[in-house]
Amino acid sequence: MKFYGGEDGICWKLKFYANKEYSGIYDKSIKDVIERFNYKYVGCYGCGKCKKEKAGYNIEYDDGRKYFRCGFELIPIKTISKDIVEEAVKMMEIQDRKFIEEIKQTLIK
Ligand SMILES: [Zn+2]
Repeated sequence: MKFYGGEDGICWKLKFYANKEYSGIYDKSIKDVIERFNYKYVGCYGCGKCKKEKAGYNIEYDDGRKYFRCGFELIPIKTISKDIVEEAVKMMEIQDRKFIEEIKQTLIK
């Protein structure tokens, strides 16, 4: 997780791609970042982690459009509340286990 000064004041970013389920605010945050760059940064752009299993976010719009956003980049979250932070903490634990798994796989090679 990282805090930074964004256009709208202090924002925060995090990685949570190991999580298969998350609430609407996180789904919207992925869509926001994809839309901000006009769908230019979808798919994997050489993160080195995407192999057979892609390490990132699969998102779907109501009209059926589907996109993959590589997990290499942090996702900016524009809002903050107790619920959102509590969810982030749970997601970070899951993400942490994924990172440890990835490190182990790298070390075994
Ligand atoms: Zn990737």
